[in-house]
Parts: sequence; structure tokens; C-alpha cells
Amino acid sequence: MTGRVALITGAASGIGAATARIYAEAGADVALAWYPPDGHDIRPVVEAVEKAGRRAVVEPVDVSLTSDVNRLVARAVGELGGVDIVVANAGIARKVALEDLDDDAWSKVVDVDLNGAWRCFRAALPHMQKAGFGRLIATSSVAGTVSGWPEHSHYAAAKGGLVGLVKSLAVEFGPDGITANAVAPGVIRTPQALDPVNSLGPAGVDATVRKVPAGRVGDPEDIAYMYQFLASAEASYVTGQLIVVDGGRSLAGLD
Ligand code: NAD
Repeated sequence: MTGRVALITGAASGIGAATARIYAEAGADVALAWYPPDGHDIRPVVEAVEKAGRRAVVEPVDVSLTSDVNRLVARAVGELGGVDIVVANAGIARKVALEDLDDDAWSKVVDVDLNGAWRCFRAALPHMQKAGFGRLIATSSVAGTVSGWPEHSHYAAAKGGLVGLVKSLAVEFGPDGITANAVAPGVIRTPQALDPVNSLGPAGVDATVRKVPAGRVGDPEDIAYMYQFLASAEASYVTGQLIVVDGGRSLAGLD
């Protein structure tokens, strides 16, 4: 990845933070979208990037605001020289029962999890077209693609929507040297997943792990290494795909 520039959203925690570290260790400079209201500390991520000898620009970004997204893309181009890779990873998951799922609750999740990815891709695509190279990567989920998730229909709809988005972009921009893929993580131990995992209690965690053929809950790095491959020149023949990274959980039945 030497000489590449990657824009990563949700970069201060979980999967996004692991991706920033692994990309920098592989030689990429990174433009990091950080969402201060969540209270995550972006400094350890920046320190890890700098320790790897790479450059980081950090911008407070709410992916539901086009102006925020465009500002980070402009900084990546102006300060790092371009945008070769976008990892549209920011997301929120909120359990909402149908009677509380009003227009606002629905739109909030779709606007971050689906529309946020589109805003990032839209802003980066002209630069990728000019460069003749691009890697668009969206963090989808097993929820909404290979399975459902009760009381998360808005989340599942958004995550499923990302699959349609990358398939269309793959066809439209393939001739420009641009690939577009979505990755569906299973249960990954991150701030977003920790609550649901921990709220199960130790017995519940054991029960969850028993359903994962790999025998454990995933780590953010399990997803980030897939992102490293998808961003590489060697992945040029993989496009428009949903790639499930869940330790085999979706194969193991529902009981
Ligand atoms: P996380 O909560 O650590 O990461 C989500 C990140 O998105 C945070 O850094 C948060 O600040 C950021 N964010 C939230 N709202 C934002 C907004 N409006 N604008 C910009 N950034 C915003 O949890 P994670 O598990 O690392 O989540 C990363 C992605 O992985 C999410 O899209 C999530 O839906 C997806 N995912 C996670 C799991 C899992 O088990 N952890 C499973 C499937 C999919």
C-alpha cells in the first residue's frame, strides 16, 4: 500500500481504528474521519500511524453532513495528494421496537450507515477516476445481508442497501480501475458490539461463541486484514461483492 492514501470513517474506534493502524503499517497515509460526540480518543490512532512512519490528517466529520465529508476529501487531496481508498465504516446500531420506529429514528440510522457511505464515495470518485485507480469499501453487516436482526430493521435495511450500492458502483466505475465491495462482519468485539455482547453475560457470550465455528468472537483486526486485501492492487479482480467475515457464524444455524 506504499504511496496510497486511504480515507477511513469511524476511525477513532473499533474496526476503523484497527484499519487505520494496519493500513499505515502497510505503507498508506490516512485521512481519518473522527466523530467527537461519541467521545472516542483519536490520538492513539494518530500515534500508531506516525509510529509506522506514515502521515495522518484528522477531521471532525459527521457523515450525515455532505459538507463535512467533502472537507475531509479536500484535505486528503490537498495535504496527502489524493484519495485512492475509501473505507466507509462509520455506523450506528440502535435497537428500536416498531412502535418507536418513527421517521426520525429510521432516517437517522439510514442517513449515517447508508447515505454516509454514499457521500464519501461520491466525493472521492472523481479523484479516483482521474488517478485511474480506486478502492471503495463499505462496512455492511451480516444483519440485513445473510440474516436479520429483530428490532433493527432500519439498520438491516441500510446495511443491505450498501450491497446494492457497491454492485452498481462496481459496474459503473470498473472501467476506471475502481473496485467497490462490501464486507459483512459478524460479531466483532468493538465499542458498538461490546454492549450487546456483554449484556448477554458470561453464559450468553459462551452460547454465542458456541455458534461461531471459529470458536471466538471476532476482533477488529479480522475485518481490517480483509480491508487491507481489498485495498491492494492484487484485489483488482474482486468487485461488486459482499464478503462475509464472521468466523462461519452464518453457516451454523439459528438454534
Ligand atoms: P464502533 O462503535 O467502535 O464504530 C463506529 C464508529 O462510527 C465510531 O467511531 C463512531 O464515532 C462513528 N460514528 C457514529 N456516528 C457517526 C457519524 N454520524 N458520523 C461519523 N462517524 C460516526 O463500532 P464498530 O463495530 O467498529 O463499527 C464499525 C462498523 O462496523 C459500523 O458500521 C458497524 O455497523 C459495523 N458492524 C459492526 C459489527 C460488530 O459486531 N462490531 C458487526 C457488523 C457490522
